[in-house]
Amino acid sequence: MTRMSTMKAFNLIIDGESVSTTDYFDVINPADKSVIARCPKANVEQLNEAVSAAKTAFSAWSALTYSERRVKLMQLADAIEAQAETFITLLTKEQGKPINGFAGLGSGFELGGTLAWIRSTASMELTAETIQDNEEAHIAIHRKPIGVVGSITPWNYPLLIGIWHMIPALITGNTVVIKPSEMTPLTTLLFGEIAKDILPKGVVNVVAGAGDIGAAMSAHKDIDKIIFTGSTPTGKAIMKSAAENLKRLTLELGGNDAAIVLADADIKAIASKIFATSFINNGQTCAALKRLYVHETVHDQLCEAMTNIAVSMKTGNGINEDTDFGPLQNEKQLDIVKALAQDAKERGANFLCGGEVVDETGYFYPITLVNNIQDGARLVDEEQFGPILPIIKFSNIEDAIVSANRLAVGLGGSVWSTDITRAQDIASRLECGTVWINNHAMVQPDAPFGGVKDSGFGVAFGEAGLKEFTFIQTMQTAKS
Ligand code: NDP
Repeated sequence: MTRMSTMKAFNLIIDGESVSTTDYFDVINPADKSVIARCPKANVEQLNEAVSAAKTAFSAWSALTYSERRVKLMQLADAIEAQAETFITLLTKEQGKPINGFAGLGSGFELGGTLAWIRSTASMELTAETIQDNEEAHIAIHRKPIGVVGSITPWNYPLLIGIWHMIPALITGNTVVIKPSEMTPLTTLLFGEIAKDILPKGVVNVVAGAGDIGAAMSAHKDIDKIIFTGSTPTGKAIMKSAAENLKRLTLELGGNDAAIVLADADIKAIASKIFATSFINNGQTCAALKRLYVHETVHDQLCEAMTNIAVSMKTGNGINEDTDFGPLQNEKQLDIVKALAQDAKERGANFLCGGEVVDETGYFYPITLVNNIQDGARLVDEEQFGPILPIIKFSNIEDAIVSANRLAVGLGGSVWSTDITRAQDIASRLECGTVWINNHAMVQPDAPFGGVKDSGFGVAFGEAGLKEFTFIQTMQTAKS
């Protein structure tokens, strides 16, 4: 009890106010399973209030110019930056990722990305496009904000993905109701506390909850668009209930990205990059490299190089500055990883390193590399979303392309080679939204990113990402 009372209190943000609830749920630190905070649990009535506030705020916010909205969003970035240390520590506590982490890809990286994305996205602007201007008529395409955007975010990058959802919605003139994952709601609630003092009331509302809020949002008649990042089954459920009022949707769902390493790849040059892009955020990254297909002539060399890196990694509590990788974010995800490893073992796969839980103080799983494994094993066919990578040997490139494309998902893919033209040719045959040559999982604010097939639809980032939050109004002015 004493411990609880010293914890920072978190509240919902509705119509510019901090709002308490009657129900709360515990937020767990995955590194030691301790309770770090009580999260306010919104009920559907509070969701309705938030949607109503966003709806009311829409007319004034959408009437502002881009420049006026940009000033506010830049202030928001500055205010978050002023509390960078608080955000970084809270993120490590609720998500588990290290403060620094391997290759500097921990909480500091997420905070840095958050600031970069706000500033970059808020600098963009959609302007009217004239498609005809002659003696008969002037015809222009205008981009108008949709209305109230509902954002449902996951637990792997809670702050950054919230920003990816909200800032393009806001700069184009929409208002937002965001529901963070019940696993990692705290950084979003802290964001809301800051946003309420900068943005007009009702423009951003934060409604944390668990169990019923997501479904109520996707069925809500006054939410005009949902943007969701998470699993394919939940994406499909959202799409079904969105039919009720023909909601616009952007669905960024799971992936199982394949990488193909060709015989001429420079293994010494690429091994550490392949390692980093496979294990970024402990593998809990939608666009991480998740299936590694390697030509037989370089297979052993790459396995050895990656194993050497893997065994030097330190997995532990991310609050310690020398930790490379933290725990899995939650027990359910740890259980998925354990089950996929068990299936691989039963099939006779070879574990080059890892593969056994050695520390149960948190949801830890060691960095694990598995070879002598084929398509059809669960570890290859299902998204592991954790620190375990299957390495599959191939001899014929056509077979590798078939393997890469054989799953229902299609988020990203990559080809690794010193022959760039050939690599690009192969990459263009991969059925996915982004293909990388000699890289993977790299995203930036001006390059569109999204999935195909069961990985969802709609894109984030760049001008194409802004357009997702608008509808077209064609204005035809007769001249004769
Ligand atoms: P889910 O993908 O199932 O998403 C959970 C969120 O969706 C919660 O906020 C929940 O809200 C909401 N939700 C549930 N049902 C509905 C509905 N019908 N309409 C609208 N929202 C709904 O998350 P999990 O944590 O279960 O993750 C499952 C898998 O997803 C992971 O194992 C991983 O493979 C993948 N994943 C992918 C991510 C990515 O970046 N693409 C990120 C995280 C996970 P409420 O609590 O109110 O029910």
